[in-house]
Amino acid sequence: MDASQILKFAIDLIAVLLLALGIKGLSKIRSAREANRLAALAMSLAVAGVLFQSFNDIGISLASWLWIVLGVLVGGFLGWITAKRVPMTSMPETVALFNGCGGISSLLVALGVALYPLAIGDSELGIGLIEKISIVVSIFVGAITFSGSMVAMAKLQGWLNTPAFMQSKFRHALNISLSVLSFIASVHIISGGDSGIWPLVIGSTLLGIGVTLPIGGADMPVVISLLNSYSGVAAAAAGFVVGSQLLIVAGAMVGAAGLILTQVMCDGMNRSLLSVLFGGAIAANSVSSIEKGGEYTNITSCSVEECALTLEVAERVVIVPGYGLAVAQAQHTLREVTRVLEAGGIEVSYAIHPVAGRMPGHMNVLLAEADVPYQQLKEMDQVNPDFPATDVVLVLGANDVVNPQAKNDPSSPLYGMPVLDVQESRTVFVVKRGMSAGYSGIKNDLFELSNTSMVFGDAKKVLGDLLVELKELGVGRRT
Ligand code: NDP
Repeated sequence: MDASQILKFAIDLIAVLLLALGIKGLSKIRSAREANRLAALAMSLAVAGVLFQSFNDIGISLASWLWIVLGVLVGGFLGWITAKRVPMTSMPETVALFNGCGGISSLLVALGVALYPLAIGDSELGIGLIEKISIVVSIFVGAITFSGSMVAMAKLQGWLNTPAFMQSKFRHALNISLSVLSFIASVHIISGGDSGIWPLVIGSTLLGIGVTLPIGGADMPVVISLLNSYSGVAAAAAGFVVGSQLLIVAGAMVGAAGLILTQVMCDGMNRSLLSVLFGGAIAANSVSSIEKGGEYTNITSCSVEECALTLEVAERVVIVPGYGLAVAQAQHTLREVTRVLEAGGIEVSYAIHPVAGRMPGHMNVLLAEADVPYQQLKEMDQVNPDFPATDVVLVLGANDVVNPQAKNDPSSPLYGMPVLDVQESRTVFVVKRGMSAGYSGIKNDLFELSNTSMVFGDAKKVLGDLLVELKELGVGRRT
């Protein structure tokens, strides 16, 4: 090993350690921001290491430097502007887009080496078996990740619906045919034939579309997490193709982290991964039939003033935040309301469902933004036994995560999903704009219960009015 190789090895090692520390730090809200910076630093070091090595080993012409600098500037600017502008509620779509970029990068690296094998320098030996297998894995997984992520993003944005033919059993035949085509092409490439490359690219790209298109409703964030894991696998395979240990380690970390997250989300919804992947269209069908028959007949609504009067005499209040709170960006107003309640001697806590919002941890991040003390956040298993002793539950823009159907109705698509048992408390106020369904498209039986009152309006507006009412009642000044 010469000095430059030792230096490159040291840079890679530091980058991997920083990345591992970054991923570990992301598991806690307090350290997440710092952890994100560490991971970004790790990535910058990794890029610098690769450029340093390329500069030393093969020398880079001025024209190539221009392309590299231009690519870094354009890619960096697009990434920065997207991350800056995207609202928290659109994070799953953004993650899908970034996953797709990861997938196509690995695909292009492997494709480049497959089409121009001399580019990796081993002109005498040609491409070895390990590299060939890695090329196949990288193209296959990278293409599925890319096309699947694009479909997932388009579906979440509402740009794309599942076509009727993809809801029938036909989709299984189609996907099996595409898998067989990709398999034959892969065998062909591994046994030395070049003509399998393009059939593999086309077969796996179409397979990514065919697998993702039928999946709908609440399962889509799980698919995005799975695709995130795939992008790691594709990157690790690309690492084998170009002989980069750094890429192998980083890809493996992303692959493993994505898989764990997928499992956490499946547990949160009591779904098996197989039922998410193969049951998409069936779930979508059953949702629409329930929606049709799901008229509400017995709804009680009340004014903000009535809600304030009930809160005034409460001793224990639990807040249930949901996706609608994030849409309304009402977290700061909520914090002002809870400060007044606490000043009035009322015990306040926040019930956090593991999949409330649009991604795991969504509600924790939202509430942390408004300086809600971390000790007041209670996880579902911790808070459910407390509901019978709770005077008032304020459900703010949450819907599916408080639907009793998940426990009481075996025919419901939500059946088996762990939910917050808010109906066990004395009084429930549900703040939402109208009677529209949550993400899963299902009627919520909670809204018809005798101890539930709907407070209609945008969460921020309702909480603002509630703050005024509570102050007028002198709640914050109570001893
Ligand atoms: P839901 O999507 O079930 O409900 C959100 C509710 O917020 C809607 O009913 C909507 O009603 C209301 N709302 C929207 N905008 C506003 C606003 N400005 N002010 C007040 N209310 C508003 O959200 P939940 O958080 O309860 O559930 C999350 C869903 O995501 C679940 O279905 C879960 O299965 C799914 N999911 C989440 C995952 C995750 O990782 N977090 C993973 C997989 C699935 P209205 O329009 O009438 O106001």
